[in-house]
Amino acid sequence: MRKQIVGLLGAISIASTGMIATASMADAATASKLVKCGKAGKVTKKMCTLYKKAGPAASKGGYHWDSVGCLRKDPLPYHPEGRACDLVYGKIGKKATGDNKSDGTKMVKWLVAHHKKYSIDHVIWQGVIYSPNGNWRGHKDKNCTSRAGVTVCHRDHVHVAVTR
Ligand SMILES: [Zn+2]
Repeated sequence: MRKQIVGLLGAISIASTGMIATASMADAATASKLVKCGKAGKVTKKMCTLYKKAGPAASKGGYHWDSVGCLRKDPLPYHPEGRACDLVYGKIGKKATGDNKSDGTKMVKWLVAHHKKYSIDHVIWQGVIYSPNGNWRGHKDKNCTSRAGVTVCHRDHVHVAVTR
């Protein structure tokens, strides 16, 4: 089990990379449907429900993430709509190894096991996408090429998105 780096420290490390931007992309209609969800910030109700269950489960299991980022700009709709969160194991930009990696894997197992209950759309970790495509057993993320970076390949964070 890793020592848990809580709260602001993680948030700052994400913000400093520029990975997490503000809510400016979310249009008014979407933003009005978002709820404040603790450290996850503004997210959809579904995401907040998941977040509030995943946190205690991860703490109990000893695999809680170090920081979290949800609402931000992105070419894909999930983060701008507030229905995706990045659960960082270690630091953004740094490949998770050792306990960071195994803890992230435990988190993914929990998410996949509970995908129905919390309306999870997909989970990405270590270049593998878990979704209905492949019956949640995981398939290779095409964006994770040999030249792709640590964050693009989700080697530093677990990405989880819920349905609309
Ligand atoms: Zn993400």
